Amino acid sequence: MRIGVLALQGDFAEHGAVLHRIGVVPIEVRLAAHLDGLLGLIIPGGESTTIGKLAVDFGLIDPLRAFAHQHAVWGTCAGAILLSRDARRAQPLLELMDITIRRNAFGRQVDSFEVLLQAPALSGVDDGREGPFPAIFIRAPLIERVGAGVEVVARLQDGTIVAARQGRWLATSFHPELTGDDRFHRYFLRLCTQGA
Ligand code: GLN
Repeated sequence: MRIGVLALQGDFAEHGAVLHRIGVVPIEVRLAAHLDGLLGLIIPGGESTTIGKLAVDFGLIDPLRAFAHQHAVWGTCAGAILLSRDARRAQPLLELMDITIRRNAFGRQVDSFEVLLQAPALSGVDDGREGPFPAIFIRAPLIERVGAGVEVVARLQDGTIVAARQGRWLATSFHPELTGDDRFHRYFLRLCTQGA
C-alpha cells in the first residue's frame, strides 16, 4: 500500500515515519506524476502560504484537486488550511472541504500546547490504545464553521472544532505525526481503503 505525503515544505518526513511504522510505503509527492498509483495523500503541517505558493509554482493545484476527487486526503494543521474552502484571507487553497478556518487562532509559536482530546471516531482503530488522543497544537488553526456535509471528529473542551471529515477528506488542526500514537494515521488508512 502506497500513500503520498506532499513534500513541498513542513513536516512531511515525520508523517512518512509514522506511515512506515504502520506498514505503509510513504511516497514523497513533489510533482503531479508522483500521485500516480497512490491510495491517498497527506498534506503536512508547515506554513500554508509557503506550501500553497509552491503548489502553484509546481503546477500542482489542479492535479491535487483532481486526485482528491478520487481519493482520501488528510491535511494536518497547515494542510488543513490548504484543504479548506475559506481561510479568511487571500492565499492559494485547494478549496475542497466546506469548512472555514481561522489561522493562528491560538496565538504565536510560544503558545503551542498539548491536550488530551476525545475523538470517538478513533474507537475501533486497532493499535492497542484506548482513551483520549494526545494532540499537539503548534500555531494551529481552528475550524470556525463546518458545512452541512461535514462531520465534526474532535472538539476541545470549550467546543472549538479541531478535526473534521467530509467524505474521505480529513482535516486536523493538530499534529498526530509528532506523537507516538498512530490512531489518526490508522483512521486515515481506513478512509484510503474504503473506496469512494
Ligand atoms: N501557522 C501555520 C499556517 O497558518 C500552520 C502551523 C502548522 O502547520 N503547525 O500555515
